[in-house]
Amino acid sequence: MSERTTDYEAVIVGAGFGGMGAAIELKRQGVDRLAILEREDDLGGTWHVNHYPGLAVDIASVTYSYSFEPNPSWSRLFAPGSELKQYAEHIADKYDLRRHMEFGVVVEEAAWDDDAEAWTVRTADGRSITARFLVTATGFLSQPYTPDFPGIDTFAGEIIHTTAWRDGYDFAGKKAAVIGTGATAVQLVPEIARTARNLTVFQRTPIWVVPKVDFPIPPPIRRLFAAVPFTQKAARAVNTSLLEMLMVFGVLHYRQAKPGNQLAALLSKAHLRTQVRDATTRKQLTPSYDFGCKRPTFSNRYFRVFNRPDVELETSSITRVEPDGIVVDDGRKIEIDTLVLATGFNLWDVNFPAFTITGRGGRDLGKWWREGRFQAYEGITVPSFPNFLTLNSPYSYSGLSYFTTIEGQMRHIARLFGEMRRRGSTRFEVTAEANEKFLDEVTRRLGDSVFYAGDCSASRSYYFNQHGEATLLRPQATLPSLREMETFPLDDYTYA
Ligand code: NAP
Repeated sequence: MSERTTDYEAVIVGAGFGGMGAAIELKRQGVDRLAILEREDDLGGTWHVNHYPGLAVDIASVTYSYSFEPNPSWSRLFAPGSELKQYAEHIADKYDLRRHMEFGVVVEEAAWDDDAEAWTVRTADGRSITARFLVTATGFLSQPYTPDFPGIDTFAGEIIHTTAWRDGYDFAGKKAAVIGTGATAVQLVPEIARTARNLTVFQRTPIWVVPKVDFPIPPPIRRLFAAVPFTQKAARAVNTSLLEMLMVFGVLHYRQAKPGNQLAALLSKAHLRTQVRDATTRKQLTPSYDFGCKRPTFSNRYFRVFNRPDVELETSSITRVEPDGIVVDDGRKIEIDTLVLATGFNLWDVNFPAFTITGRGGRDLGKWWREGRFQAYEGITVPSFPNFLTLNSPYSYSGLSYFTTIEGQMRHIARLFGEMRRRGSTRFEVTAEANEKFLDEVTRRLGDSVFYAGDCSASRSYYFNQHGEATLLRPQATLPSLREMETFPLDDYTYA
């Protein structure tokens, strides 16, 4: 597409499903001189980094995959994490992406050079790489968060963050603690409870958990999916529609469909009722915020763990960590020798964006977002940042499966690059007006969502940024949002 004046036509940062989707689309658009720079030592993003016991998708695999690359071999309805990693490898091979990838490359900053009409990407090992286009695909949940508990450095036992799992770590005979009760802990806690001598789960905020309808996919069904792909497509359509109802009626249209949301909460409460014997524990495990304020999760094993005599739910707040235990606010010390941090990720301080990005006129994207409002036109482009596509952006997350988001973005890229080709241009930039219009529209629509019309005050949800705004999800049903991504007005951009 462009003359060879830069090292690459495009640099993509991140080799997860987002980065690979962007690479597939850019190659379709004729952009073949591209580099995919990845911080980790292999591809797969989340599914490479996370390999704690119990890891599995919580969106059925027929939906949690590219629609154009169905995988008939999923072993279960909700595939285990290792199969997602294999699927990522299959994608890289099939779409010839590996030759573009470089691992162990930490990007520290990227700056737009208006004279050269190119991005300069600087890496931690001191390299400067130039490219006409920059794509960030660094994930939403890729900057692990470790709370700064007083005394944590003095702890004499093992500390393991779930994103740095020590494969094969043996919990047998261990006095273990897990801090955190998010989706990760919900998967991990039952696994640790199976082998540890005892386990204390530190909960600050309870999570809504609904039953998980999961089962192995029988080989004849897998063979049918392989032989008649339409059947898997139909299964995908049914599952995606169910998720869509949950998203649209449970979260986005809370104001109009409150009973739908309440029904989901009721289902979770009934699930808890059937799984946990002790009434006090049940009360402690019951959230006091509306369903959907933070990402609910699915499990048939999590609640039941709290019936075990060797598992304690601890709801007092943590005062400090000592070499042999955790002291809580009433002065008790819970003695432990293994501390698991299921404390999640830092999104809003360090992940949007994941490194310094400077656009036209020296505009610093992170500063601009934090000091003003988080925003991105159609969740992918930003005014004053020419030739820049930011995949993990405010208002970009569409539908409940990440693949809906990336496939919408691939459509956007196709339309934008198609127009540039038609005009013979090599530069695009979204107009400030189009961006403002989009921001106004999503802000208006979010007014109906559970985030604003419901009660989320006790949720401590990472959906909310430091200004108290829920700027992660795109408040639109999947089909109109996909349609918008391939029909947006072309003059919402300037071209040169
Ligand atoms: P998370 O949802 O952010 O949960 C972090 C947990 O750590 C929360 O319970 C939080 O409590 C607790 N925590 C943080 N700081 C604390 C402190 N100082 N003291 C006490 N507790 C503290 O992170 P996550 O569980 O890793 O999940 C993140 C997201 O990853 C999920 O929402 C989901 O989208 C995704 N995920 C998906 C899957 C899957 O698909 N299979 C599996 C795992 C994760 P508060 O709530 O009180 O802040």
